[in-house]
Amino acid sequence: MAEELNLRDVENIQREADCSICLNKCSERLLPNCGHSFCEECLHKINENGKISCPECRKVSTLPDGKVQNLMRNFVAMRIRDQTTTIIEEKGRATGESAKMKLVVNLLNGKKMEVQVNGPDVTVNELKREIAEKSNIGEDHQRLLYLGKELENEKKLGHYKIGPYSTIHMVQRMLGGRLILFNILSYG
Ligand SMILES: [Zn+2]
Ligand SMILES: [Zn+2]
Repeated sequence: MAEELNLRDVENIQREADCSICLNKCSERLLPNCGHSFCEECLHKINENGKISCPECRKVSTLPDGKVQNLMRNFVAMRIRDQTTTIIEEKGRATGESAKMKLVVNLLNGKKMEVQVNGPDVTVNELKREIAEKSNIGEDHQRLLYLGKELENEKKLGHYKIGPYSTIHMVQRMLGGRLILFNILSYG
């Protein structure tokens, strides 16, 4: 019998099912002709006059009737995403230890960044420190939002039901108290 996959293996499999453009666990994955699949939102961004040049392989696909929505769904990727999410959650619980989890942070200009934290018991403050190390945006300059809610420094990520590959949106706190909001996507 095959050895059981560890958490990291499952995360790697899940990565394959993520949209390689935005790294999001996207709700829908659509298939251009080349066979690489992406989320609908990203495909809209790269749609040029009804044609998609695949960011992975550069093959050009013509969209049916010029519309992204008319592409076939990649049900396999979506199923892998759902099942790996369940396995990751269960394995995290079973080991008792706070499993490492990766989060996606939306930064300036639509840029995305992955950060890894020690599970849902990590506080928002600790997450900010992690982001600061990777992005050069100081902790004091970060405001973090999840599902439209601002995260309070001393609360734990689990309090907000933030889990593996959740997408956090950053709003940068500017000098003089002004805020710049960027790339706040409604993401179910
Ligand atoms: Zn995407
Ligand atoms: Zn491709």
